[in-house]
Amino acid sequence: MMVFSSTGTALSTRRRTRLVHVGRVAVGSDAPVVVQSMTNTDTANLDATVAQVAELAYAGSELVRITVNNEASARTVPRIRERLCAQGIDVPLVGDFHYNGHALLAKVPECAVALDKFRINPGNVGAGTRRDSQFAELIELACKHNKPVRIGVNWGSLDQTVLARVMDENAARAAPLPAEAVMREALVASALESASRAESLGLAGECIILSAKVSNVQDLIAVYRELARRCEYPLHLGLTEAGMGSKGIVASTAAMAVLLQEGIGDTIRVSLTPEPGGNRTQEVVVAQEILQTMGLRAFMPMVVACPGCGRTTSTFFQELAAHVQRHVRDKMPQWRTEYDGVENMTLAVMGCVVNGPGESRHANVGISLPGSGEEPAAPVFVNGEKTVTLRGGDIAAEFTSLIDNYVASHYARKSV
Ligand code: SF4
Repeated sequence: MMVFSSTGTALSTRRRTRLVHVGRVAVGSDAPVVVQSMTNTDTANLDATVAQVAELAYAGSELVRITVNNEASARTVPRIRERLCAQGIDVPLVGDFHYNGHALLAKVPECAVALDKFRINPGNVGAGTRRDSQFAELIELACKHNKPVRIGVNWGSLDQTVLARVMDENAARAAPLPAEAVMREALVASALESASRAESLGLAGECIILSAKVSNVQDLIAVYRELARRCEYPLHLGLTEAGMGSKGIVASTAAMAVLLQEGIGDTIRVSLTPEPGGNRTQEVVVAQEILQTMGLRAFMPMVVACPGCGRTTSTFFQELAAHVQRHVRDKMPQWRTEYDGVENMTLAVMGCVVNGPGESRHANVGISLPGSGEEPAAPVFVNGEKTVTLRGGDIAAEFTSLIDNYVASHYARKSV
C-alpha cells in the first residue's frame, strides 16, 4: 500500500502485513499506524491506574498497556476495565507479563477476559526447563481467551538460549560477524522463533504482533529492517529506554522516522522517562507529533510558529505561540467529538513581517506580529486573506476566539 502525506505526496510503500484486531483497534495491513502508551502506576492501585489510563486515552492513546506483575494487579484488571467502561472509555488494554504471566492468567481468568492483548517477552517467560512449558501455557491461554499477543523482545532481557546459539553459529563462520551484528540477529531470531512456536501451539498468525526493542538508534533501524524483511507480522515500533526530555524525543523520532518512511511500523510507542512530576501523556503527544509531522496521520491542528530571532526580543511572541498551542490542545478533545476534519486545520503564529504574512497566508488561520519595538498590531489571515488587524493587550484572547469561530464555521458538525 502506498502511504501518502497529508498533502497527497507519496511517501513510501507501506510494508505488507497481516491485520490484527486488538479489541476495537486494527493494527497492521492498511490500518493507520496506531499510537500506544503505557501506565506507570501500580496496577493494583485501582484509582490511580484508572485515572492514568483515562488521561492517556483522553490525550489520544489508542491502546494502553498496563503492568500485570502479581495477583493483586491481575485481580484489579477487571475492575479497571469496568470503571473505564462506566466512564465511557473503551480504549483497549494490553497486559504486560513477565516471569509469571502464565500463572496469573490461569489463576485469574477474569483478568485474561478483561484484557485485549497480552504482551510477553520470550527472554522473561521463564528459565531453564520451565521456559518452554510456561511459554506454551501462556500461548494456550491466549488461544483459549481469543486474545492477540505481542511477542516483545528486548535487548536488555534477550533470551540467553537464542543468543548463545547465534553466537555459536557465528563463531563457526569462516568470517564471523561483529558482536553488534550477532546481537541484532539474536533479537530477530528470538522474535521470529517465538512467533513460529506460538503458531505451532495454535495461535493464529493474525493474533501476533512483534517487537524487538533496543536503545540504540542504528541498532533499532537495522533490527526492524530485518524483521520487516523476514515476516509479515505487524510490528510494534519503539526505542526502548529512550530517556528523558529532548534526548528521548530526538532519539525516538530519529529511529522511528527512518523506519516509518520505509513503510515499517504498524503501532508505535515513545518510551520517555517522565520528568519528576511530569505528565505521562507526553509520550502520546510525541508519538502523535511524529506521525503528524511526517504526514502519516492527523491528530490535531498543527501550529506553525517561527523560532523568533533578534526581531522578537520581547516575550510577547513566545507567549502568544504558547497560548495558541495550549488552546488547541485543550479544545481538541471537544472539537474531535463535534467536528469532522478539524485535526487537519493549520495555524500560524509568526514573529514579524519578514516571513509572517507569507506563512500566515498558507495556514487556515494565521497571525503575524510586527516584531519588537513596535506597538502590537497583528494582521490575521484566514484562508489566505487578510481579515482583521488585532491591536492592544487582548490579542491572544481575540486570536483564539477567531480560531474557535473558524472551527465552528468551516468544519461539518458530526452527527451524534
Ligand atoms: S519571521 Fe521574523 S521574527 Fe520570526 S524568525 Fe523570521 S525574521 Fe525572525
